[in-house]
Amino acid sequence: MDKKNKLLEKYQGKRDFRKTSEPFGDELSEDNNKPLFVIQKHDAQNLHYDLRLEVEGVLKSWAIPKGPSTGPGDKRLAIPTEDHPLDYADFEGVIPEDNYGAGTVIVWDTGPYENITEKNGKKIPMKEAIDTGKVSVNLDGKKLKGGYALIRTGAGNRSRWLLVKIDDEEADARRNPVSTEPESVLTGRTIEETASEVADKLNDGG
Ligand code: MN
Repeated sequence: MDKKNKLLEKYQGKRDFRKTSEPFGDELSEDNNKPLFVIQKHDAQNLHYDLRLEVEGVLKSWAIPKGPSTGPGDKRLAIPTEDHPLDYADFEGVIPEDNYGAGTVIVWDTGPYENITEKNGKKIPMKEAIDTGKVSVNLDGKKLKGGYALIRTGAGNRSRWLLVKIDDEEADARRNPVSTEPESVLTGRTIEETASEVADKLNDGG
């Protein structure tokens, strides 16, 4: 227990695990299942959506202030954040005040994904795709399906990532799941309901 993990140094260094119920991350699964993606809605200082992709034992993470779009070609700013442990993928709850990322988290969407990144007509591993700054994935979530690209533009301090909906059969400019489907895919509850439920439990003293 509580063995520090080199891959998760940044994640573990930002948090006090006596105070937050977020997972420490001492389990690295090595299964052969399809890799997982998760999008967590996080009502922190600024509401945002955390996109996480399972890559080689950790969750590679980007914060998306406006959340993902289903409109073909729609671009959303995606800010890289620290790698998270795999068991963060089903974390929901309230990160207490004065802790890093304080606020309520729900699992807004999740499911398997497929790496469809190609370079010169050949498939390349996710790690290489991320290093190159050009990632294409096929999501099989409950709310989001089909192709999304993560693209790094600019260099050095000016570099930024964009999440772009690939124009495919699943693209639909009329849908807007960020506003019409705000609830958790695990519990059916919204951020507000999750927050008040946790508060009630604390008030019950147990
Ligand atoms: Mn976050």
